[in-house]
Amino acid sequence: MNEKKLYKIFEHYKKKYKLNTRLEIEPKGLLCNYKPNIDFIYLGCEAIGEGNLAERLHLKTKKQFCISALLHEIKHAIDKDILENEIKSIDIIALQYNSEYHDTLPFEIRADNFARQELKNWI
Ligand SMILES: [Zn+2]
Repeated sequence: MNEKKLYKIFEHYKKKYKLNTRLEIEPKGLLCNYKPNIDFIYLGCEAIGEGNLAERLHLKTKKQFCISALLHEIKHAIDKDILENEIKSIDIIALQYNSEYHDTLPFEIRADNFARQELKNWI
């Protein structure tokens, strides 16, 4: 997956939504996440084997996965202001032990929907 393209996609949304978010892409990284406290996206391009974003969105290729994972985390950054309150209201223990619970969280559903919708603009 071409990192330049991922940064280009990121810059598009950064400008569109006036984000101050920073992005780090790690080609060999095994996870993707967004940290609202520091407004930071970490994108591990090898995370396709982990988690289940690829499954949830029926993604077939690594390119589709990397772009979708980036779009998912960008949506969290767009939602930053409401995200912190939403995170406070969730049951962290249930979250750690039940991946399906994770998939029912409103902000995760919004992020998946955003990724699903926007992916077609980039492939
Ligand atoms: Zn998420």
